[in-house]
Amino acid sequence: MKRKSFLQNSAAVIGAAWLPSASFANEPLKKTIRFAHLSDIHVKPGAIPESGMAKAFQQVQLLKKPVDFIVNGGDAIMDALEADKQKTQIQWDLFTSLLKKENSLPVYHTIGNHDIWGWFYKKDPAALANSLPDQDKLYGKIWVQEILQMPGRYYSFTKGNWKLIVLDSTQLNPAGGYIARLDEEQMNWLQSELSLTPKEQHICIISHIPILSICAGLFFDKTETNGDLLVKRNLMHTDFLSLKKRFRNYPNIRACISGHIHLQEEIEYLGIKYYCNGAVSGNWWKGSFQEFEPAFAIIELMDDGSTKRTMVKYQVN
Ligand SMILES: [Zn+2]
Repeated sequence: MKRKSFLQNSAAVIGAAWLPSASFANEPLKKTIRFAHLSDIHVKPGAIPESGMAKAFQQVQLLKKPVDFIVNGGDAIMDALEADKQKTQIQWDLFTSLLKKENSLPVYHTIGNHDIWGWFYKKDPAALANSLPDQDKLYGKIWVQEILQMPGRYYSFTKGNWKLIVLDSTQLNPAGGYIARLDEEQMNWLQSELSLTPKEQHICIISHIPILSICAGLFFDKTETNGDLLVKRNLMHTDFLSLKKRFRNYPNIRACISGHIHLQEEIEYLGIKYYCNGAVSGNWWKGSFQEFEPAFAIIELMDDGSTKRTMVKYQVN
């Protein structure tokens, strides 16, 4: 997203808090907001990933019913979590140059776990000259926010009578790895975003990792020997029960959109649609992941608060 459009959007958001009708006075209300949700692009150097990302964006520009904007659902690049600075730079250069070349629509970005630099970087003992990522100012979530010109790791924007809230799902887990949840600061921010949104304005929440998902339990394609189907802490929001309780106070929350698990599903639970929209990269650029081919979603947000998702498959080369 260009900083300028964020400033315009944030002005609308601030305005919406105290002047719900006047803030949209200059913006003609459109019946339906349409956007493409492209998640888990995982671009890296190579013929298939490069042509795949290009083809996906080309297909979005050529849609018969045009979309108003694109949401990058996160995991834009193959991996920065374990990569050194040079490998991370190469992947970001590729992502930004392909985006510039193949896309003319506004893009709103989400941070995926693989977009975070250096959390799990293991220094090669032979490369003593390499500085550690955690001593670098771009460490963690700073680099992705800078390179994609994000207004913050979480933010919101408005389109017509809809507020879209973009969350940052991935937190460092003290017990190892990463965990899907909101940190305290972000949870407080979300709470105030929800309470400041006028009741008549609809809300769509975007997170990289699904807030609610049954497919999260199917990711490893196996049942435990005791019969359990496990939902791992890094595959679905571990704070779902707390979020659900909050969501119950805001019937204007209509849809939650995610990626991350490369599987596709549509769930309706307590009046909210939970759409998990697969992966542009399918099986990390090796064909389909389980039953799901490389794809992206078209999301339609209607004026009456209803929503519709259409998955679009495309040819990667
Ligand atoms: Zn992910």
